[in-house]
Amino acid sequence: MCGVFGVHSVEREVARLAYFGLFALQHRGQESAGIAVSEGGRVTAVRDMGLVPQVFDEEKLAALPGEVAIGHTRYSTTGGARWSNAQPLVFHGAARTVALAHNGNLVDLGVLRDELLADGVRLDTSSDTEVIAALIAHDPSPLPDAVASAMRRVSGAYSVVAIAEGALVAFRDPLGIRPLSLGRIGDDWVVASETCALDLVGADVVRDVGPGEVLWIDGDGCHAAQAVPRGRSASCIFEHVYFARPDSLLDGTGVHAARVRMGERLAEEAPVEADLVMPIPDSGTPAAIGFAKRSGIPYEEGLIKNRYVGRTFIEPDQALRRQGIKLKFNPLAEIEGRRLAIVDDSIVRGNTMRALVEMLVGSGAAEVHVRISSPPVVSPCFYGIDMADEDELAAAHRSVEEMREHVGATSLHYLSLEGMQWATGLPEDAVCRACFTRSYPTAVPAERVAKHRFEAAALVRGG
Ligand code: SF4
Repeated sequence: MCGVFGVHSVEREVARLAYFGLFALQHRGQESAGIAVSEGGRVTAVRDMGLVPQVFDEEKLAALPGEVAIGHTRYSTTGGARWSNAQPLVFHGAARTVALAHNGNLVDLGVLRDELLADGVRLDTSSDTEVIAALIAHDPSPLPDAVASAMRRVSGAYSVVAIAEGALVAFRDPLGIRPLSLGRIGDDWVVASETCALDLVGADVVRDVGPGEVLWIDGDGCHAAQAVPRGRSASCIFEHVYFARPDSLLDGTGVHAARVRMGERLAEEAPVEADLVMPIPDSGTPAAIGFAKRSGIPYEEGLIKNRYVGRTFIEPDQALRRQGIKLKFNPLAEIEGRRLAIVDDSIVRGNTMRALVEMLVGSGAAEVHVRISSPPVVSPCFYGIDMADEDELAAAHRSVEEMREHVGATSLHYLSLEGMQWATGLPEDAVCRACFTRSYPTAVPAERVAKHRFEAAALVRGG
């Protein structure tokens, strides 16, 4: 999962807008951040490991003047936390220079890479982002045609912002798997992974970039073309469940409201006798609000989260590691002797939930009933979310009762697939739900599923 942002403006400080846009998209990637700008057609990029405010300061932003800026926040559990994987990537081709930032994951790139290498194109990384940039940078056709041609040659999930020939370019795969929205500030145009980034820079939300659509924004305004015929949409339902920020709009729907509805529906499907409804902060909070509302059980925050635990805290020693969950959460005394209904959005590997239940029982909770506002996650994602391999997914080979035993809860219930779908307000054929159903919206060869573990180690993801 990554965040992308792009802005075209002659009047405004585009690098500063990109900085704030990325700041709003920090939840989509905390490993590295970068901004590329174009001034009079000359492209400059700054990218580094770390959070957005760690990578950029006043001095660096001041050194990035231009009329176009794109930015990227990267999250990756594979491909390593390396500077060379940070984006935007700048590619100098035979036809043009392209700066490009990508959210998603291309599938079956092997043949395409071989073709490019056979054509004498130099590829410095194993990144799928570089393949898209190379295709556009070497294509002598006019820019929109070069982008459309690249889109026809790749498959998988991609929401991309790019700079080429002084224009801001944005495009999205034909299924629209990862989000991408278009906004406007006065006469200027902004593109972002999520509408919360448009809000922060003062842009009005215009619409989503359509599946298979390419936009190119230059001094003459915003131009759009349907580059690849759109099939069925398959926007990622997990964005609604967990990834997206609650204050974003996805597919025209408010994320927070959808999560509250998931909790309400869960309370109808899996009622419980409990004294308190407690969220696992922050991911479970909206669904816990919905659960409490519908069940009539009082809502209380019983777990305090340390919000400053990032991915790179100092490794604790053995003794501390055993109670590692306390780095993140600490229970309040009020839970003692109470029957708790704890609500979270999903269980992926199950380790955190098991540790949490153990901690709550150890802190005196009389009963711990776990309610999950999505169905069991049973299959890996091939579209840019490195949630886990199948053999690491706790529910992939366990029944719900086995999962209850695994996490040590008094009871455990998941929201049904129908309930989750209903809460998004979207039709079934408009979303991808493959990690819950094993039914992928694109061809994913069986051997690729089997080889996922191997490939995950070898492939550098776009983010
Ligand atoms: S497999 Fe799951 S996480 Fe991946 S795109 Fe589909 S719904 Fe989203």
